[in-house]
Amino acid sequence: MDTLVWKKLWKLNLPSKLSLFLWKCIHNILPVKWQLSKRGIPIDTICARCGQTEETREHVFFECQWSQRVWRGTTLGLNFSIGQPVGFNIWWTTWITSVQEDELILHSVAILWAIWRQSNLRVFQNEQLSIEQTLILVDDFKKQWPNNFIDVTNARLDYKHALSNDSSSNHCCVLANTCVVSKDFQLFTCVVDGAWQQVTRATGIAWVCFDEYQLQVFQRGISTRLSSPLLAEARALLKAIKRAITKKITCLSLFTDCKVLVDSCAQKYCSDWEVDVVIQDILMLSFAFHFLCVTKVNRVLVELAHKLARSVISLSYG
Ligand SMILES: [Zn+2]
Repeated sequence: MDTLVWKKLWKLNLPSKLSLFLWKCIHNILPVKWQLSKRGIPIDTICARCGQTEETREHVFFECQWSQRVWRGTTLGLNFSIGQPVGFNIWWTTWITSVQEDELILHSVAILWAIWRQSNLRVFQNEQLSIEQTLILVDDFKKQWPNNFIDVTNARLDYKHALSNDSSSNHCCVLANTCVVSKDFQLFTCVVDGAWQQVTRATGIAWVCFDEYQLQVFQRGISTRLSSPLLAEARALLKAIKRAITKKITCLSLFTDCKVLVDSCAQKYCSDWEVDVVIQDILMLSFAFHFLCVTKVNRVLVELAHKLARSVISLSYG
């Protein structure tokens, strides 16, 4: 997927749950019946809504007559019942690059989400939402979203501000992703940072973790002495991951301002052996997660962890 597409998506400031939903759509790992049967789950793969054909990602969103009627009922003017079948990613890329107004993209995400809900209600609760009810869901979602981002705490992560001016913001490494069938998992986000003084090697490492409503759930700063700033960043990342595991967090998105660290995670290797040891630990621990990714972000976004790391240095080493 084009980085411009991701960037545009980031700027929409979607709740984490929705970003993850879209991310799963794009990577075709939503638990649609066809996907589940491919994973060896014995399941009837026929679409529960129309009962006519296999439930693939494309069928769920575009090809099922129920979905087509939802799209036709909206003001977006999209009609999937005419023309050739569309691949999800081709459609999404074309759509997101062709529309200028964020409002329209948000509207389309709301429709995808509502269709997904409609499909799940049918599968799990044998409940058939009418087209009108699904369209009401679309409107409800649209109304809810902006409110999710009201400052619930001063420590709220300002994604929009941090990401809008940073071209490298979508530099991201996914360490774990599994098909999460459970509907009630939460995606946590954690910012990490290290502060390092060259002469004394006094080091502060810190992490601050937020739940999906951007509320702080835990934070910690530790002072130590390490040989390099990169090692400090890596240790902060490792510590945050360990802490998340003890908190039984299984879906975690980590933010760092250190590009080399994200690169090392992606390459599963670092030429600095001390950092490499940490990277190997991180890779091993990633198996404890349903979803784990590390993203390079603008420094502004890790500000909280940065301040904490700096403060523990000054507290410990004056
Ligand atoms: Zn169908």
